[in-house]
Amino acid sequence: MMTGAEYIASIRGLELQARVLGADQAALVDDPLVAPSLRAVAATYDAARSAAGRDLACAQSSLTGEPINRFTHLHQSPADLVAKVRLLRHLGNVTACCFQRCVGLDAANAVFSVTFECDRQHGTRYHDRFREFWLQVQRRDLTVDGAMTDPKGDRGKRPAQQADPDLFVRVVARRPGGVVIRGAKLHQTGMLNAHEILVMPTMAMRPGEEQYAICCALPTGAAGVRHLYGRQASDTRKREAGAPDAGNATFGGQEVMTVFDDVFVPDERVFLCGEVDWSGPLVERFAGYHRQSYGGCKVGVGDVLIGASAWLARLNGVDGASHVRDKLVEMVHLNETMFSCGVACSAFGHATAAGNYEIDLLLANVCKQNVTRFPHEIARLATDLAGGLLGTMPALGDLGDPVVGPYLRKYLATVPGVDPVDRMKVLRLVENLVAGAGAVGYLIESVHGAGPPQAQRIMIGRQADLEGKIGLARTLLGHSPAGASGR
Ligand SMILES: Cc1cc2nc3c(=O)[nH]c(=O)nc-3n(C[C@H](O)[C@H](O)[C@H](O)COP(=O)(O)OP(=O)(O)OC[C@H]3O[C@@H](n4cnc5c(N)ncnc54)[C@H](O)[C@@H]3O)c2cc1C
Ligand code: SF4
Repeated sequence: MMTGAEYIASIRGLELQARVLGADQAALVDDPLVAPSLRAVAATYDAARSAAGRDLACAQSSLTGEPINRFTHLHQSPADLVAKVRLLRHLGNVTACCFQRCVGLDAANAVFSVTFECDRQHGTRYHDRFREFWLQVQRRDLTVDGAMTDPKGDRGKRPAQQADPDLFVRVVARRPGGVVIRGAKLHQTGMLNAHEILVMPTMAMRPGEEQYAICCALPTGAAGVRHLYGRQASDTRKREAGAPDAGNATFGGQEVMTVFDDVFVPDERVFLCGEVDWSGPLVERFAGYHRQSYGGCKVGVGDVLIGASAWLARLNGVDGASHVRDKLVEMVHLNETMFSCGVACSAFGHATAAGNYEIDLLLANVCKQNVTRFPHEIARLATDLAGGLLGTMPALGDLGDPVVGPYLRKYLATVPGVDPVDRMKVLRLVENLVAGAGAVGYLIESVHGAGPPQAQRIMIGRQADLEGKIGLARTLLGHSPAGASGR
């Protein structure tokens, strides 16, 4: 297992074609805009050695029996699934941001079981290929980007009906020994901090859409792969000397638009190619795992936001007020509800035909549906408790100015004995999560990451077993449990 420092060195060695804020950027690791996101991934490596994280972050490989980082683990039990959620909460506590490495983990667990079942049905040879690929990921302790979301163009049209057929990633040619893919993946979490990309179809494909049913792996630096760094609110504050107004100068998230400009992928890295009937299960299983993940990571970030809000209330001298205590209780209640869902869908996990464990799909979708709402409510309450200064405060950098610095200390003073500088720093941390760069991960991603709210409602509707519930009511009232149409 790599240390965080070894991981950062391994990323430094990659020569990626990346564009950051209008400039081609080779030294990504040293760019203060990018470096916090790299440190957040490094935290997933350091967790395996830290006293607080070791027990959660270390696992035993089902492929080799060797100790591995849980971020490369194929889950072997419900206890493994619960440990994953607890690990994600722990890392949310440490970084207060998206630490990026879970998407690849969730993709791997989905591809592992889907390739097994696809081979069984179609006589293909994908599972052994994927095992071999993932063995290398585990041995080298790599970070893998999980690439599902296509640009999708006109949402009312199927892939082949688009004005531009490249709006969904597709196979444009088959060559001896491999395939050539073209298209783009948007919103890629941690792409520039990853060694490998695991490409998956963006939705269930139908007969006639075989070219779009592609799952494969390629290095982030493969020829023809180009990355465009996504902007986040207030991101350039990270480039200011010392980043005093960044709120969270140490850690941050990263999303990237990645273009595949006719990229060759060798056969041994192709895990689905034209089997449209397995694209749907792959999307569903990946989304299920990632909806479980949010019951850990967003809760961990929520802990920090709740802590910062309680601290601010104390610094402002209102921590004894009953409505303040009640708002903090409400924030905790919402946060723990999300955690409960994450744990519950894990505890009810089951073995797949391939042997790894999958979460309870209904409960994972309930988990994510709550996540589309609760962090926003927690953020609203944090905004309430913080006061208007949250959106209007002058720069922390002005504290050192001999003329205006004293005004800041004088007029931002609260309870005697409280240092106004502490108050300003906590306000910036809250601002980062409710309106700054951190809000991308905490709020926007909570809505859209792992699929928008409607996607979970569709899954909840499918898994709801309403007929079974009608049967319960019928039995209680003396009807036969399964009458025609429940009438
Ligand atoms: C911060 C962040 C990180 C992310 N990280 C990753 C990642 O690492 N990997 C990855 O693959 N993806 C990632 N995503 C992508 C995420 O899964 C998508 O944003 C999400 O699935 C929504 O897709 P979209 O953005 O294209 O929005 P849209 O699909 O355009 O959705 C917008 C609205 O339109 C509705 N809508 C869309 N299509 C239809 C339709 N046909 N009929 C009716 N209504 C429709 C939706 O329900 C929604 O209300 C990330 C997203 C964010 C914001
Ligand atoms: S949003 Fe959460 S689960 Fe997804 S990659 Fe970021 S930290 Fe991991």
